[in-house]
Amino acid sequence: MEKETCTFSYCAKPEIVEVDTDLLLIGGGMACCGAAYEAVRWAAPKGLKVTMVDKAATDRSGAVAMGLSAINTYIGENKVEDYVRYVRGDLMGITRDDLVFDLGRHVDNSVHMFEEWGLPIWKKGDDGFSLDGFQAKDAGKAKLVDGGTPVRSGKWQIMINGESYKAIVAEAAKKALEENRKATGVDQNHFERVFIVRLFKDANDPKRVAAAVGFSVREHKMYIFKAKAMVLAAGGAVNVFRPRSTKEGQGRAWYPVWNSGSGYALGMQAGAELTLMENRFVPARFKDGYGPVGAWFLFFKAKATNSLGEDYCANEEYVNDAKKKYGAYVDKMGTAIRNHLMMQDMKAGKGPIIMRTHEAMEAINKSFIEKLGEKEGKKKVKHLEAEAWEDFLDMCIGQAGLWAAKNERRA
Ligand SMILES: Cc1cc2nc3c(=O)[nH]c(=O)nc-3n(C[C@H](O)[C@H](O)[C@H](O)COP(=O)(O)OP(=O)(O)OC[C@H]3O[C@@H](n4cnc5c(N)ncnc54)[C@H](O)[C@@H]3O)c2cc1C
Repeated sequence: MEKETCTFSYCAKPEIVEVDTDLLLIGGGMACCGAAYEAVRWAAPKGLKVTMVDKAATDRSGAVAMGLSAINTYIGENKVEDYVRYVRGDLMGITRDDLVFDLGRHVDNSVHMFEEWGLPIWKKGDDGFSLDGFQAKDAGKAKLVDGGTPVRSGKWQIMINGESYKAIVAEAAKKALEENRKATGVDQNHFERVFIVRLFKDANDPKRVAAAVGFSVREHKMYIFKAKAMVLAAGGAVNVFRPRSTKEGQGRAWYPVWNSGSGYALGMQAGAELTLMENRFVPARFKDGYGPVGAWFLFFKAKATNSLGEDYCANEEYVNDAKKKYGAYVDKMGTAIRNHLMMQDMKAGKGPIIMRTHEAMEAINKSFIEKLGEKEGKKKVKHLEAEAWEDFLDMCIGQAGLWAAKNERRA
């Protein structure tokens, strides 16, 4: 039966489309959009062809699709060396310091471009309180590149109005690709809804990948992309481990479920070395929600506790046990250690783990009223509360829906 299917006797053979290019970018997420923008600048003087292929629609594809509330790394006033130290501590030493350093020294430049392309970035107001990206623009606050002060939600993160983050970056990539298409005279160099399924090696050089093959998810077409070089950045892998959540919650994953890990598979099948794959980020999550947590912990100062209201990171027994196993990394209380301590609590039957969003908002309310008085304080809190809701509407709509359905004012 299988053999028979492969003869195509049951269906029409797909149309085969061959594309010849110099640089092929597989994936249309943040990484490949950035690579497209950069590559086109370098390719232009040499007349090289740059092609990008995405299995989805680039404007809203990848892990930034739904919009984000922060940019996780902006070096600004900090030192790149300290950033490397922080990453090493957080990931318990399983890092490539050279790559992290490289990221650190270039990232601000990218963020400046995002702002130039229209991404609204929060700024410090004259009264020391935060202005969201739109308020900052209206108030005439300087751009980051001109010395504007961002609102930090932690030492490394800055707050953004990021609901259109991906569309903004995709637009820059698409413009660059179009420029390259016109300059090189090709018909098409940006392919959407084409799913790459296999890499093929050069027949004369087994160490070189020479082509990528994929199929259109909308039309009856197969694509063969021949390229001199490739960037493969097709996102992460979701649902590799079975979640602890049950029933409806089982389908909820922090990362988008369409991050199928195909990028890793394609590389592995072609014999590529997958550097740092021993570092797996398996986020432990909270009752009813899978996110967002960054802005809530760092910016709104929410606390997570077990069902008894206890802070699992302060449990001496767990901490001492972790120190025996993981040494000085425990003092840094990085992400992996916090997750580990949370798991200890869950194993001890003290779950579910609850992120106390309402208490965080109450504390903000109190401190704003103390500092600014009843009227002004409440006005500022109202604005912040809208941001807090937006954070959930961006990243965990189900949670916002649950609160609304129960008429709860959690944020
Ligand atoms: C809920 C959530 C919140 C986050 N919050 C933040 C935050 O606040 N701040 C922050 O800085 N970062 C945040 N991140 C992380 C950030 O989104 C990612 O680090 C970033 O998007 C990774 O970019 P990427 O290009 O490597 O992968 P992706 O953006 O996932 O892009 C992968 C691309 O490859 C395409 N693709 C996949 N397989 C194939 C295939 N076989 N053939 C063709 N195309 C393929 C996909 O369509 C997609 O376009 C968050 C992520 C999530 C999920």
